[in-house]
Amino acid sequence: MEMNLLILRDDSGRKVRQCPMCPYSSHQKGRLRDHMLTHTGERPHPCPYCGRRFTQKSTMRRHAITHVSPLGEL
Ligand SMILES: [Zn+2]
Ligand SMILES: [Zn+2]
Repeated sequence: MEMNLLILRDDSGRKVRQCPMCPYSSHQKGRLRDHMLTHTGERPHPCPYCGRRFTQKSTMRRHAITHVSPLGEL
């Protein structure tokens, strides 16, 4: 699903993509796409250990490490 992103220009003429659903904006398209998942509820990154799904890869990795670390949260 493609959403209509607002494309603005910053002072130096670089494109800034703004989320249409909140004030978040980023120069990087990929960053904004990751951010948009927080609105759509899509979770493309499953934990390889338990299958729990996460919106952000970094969050999934932080979670996944709790399966292998004895000091991990649970
Ligand atoms: Zn947003
Ligand atoms: Zn897990």
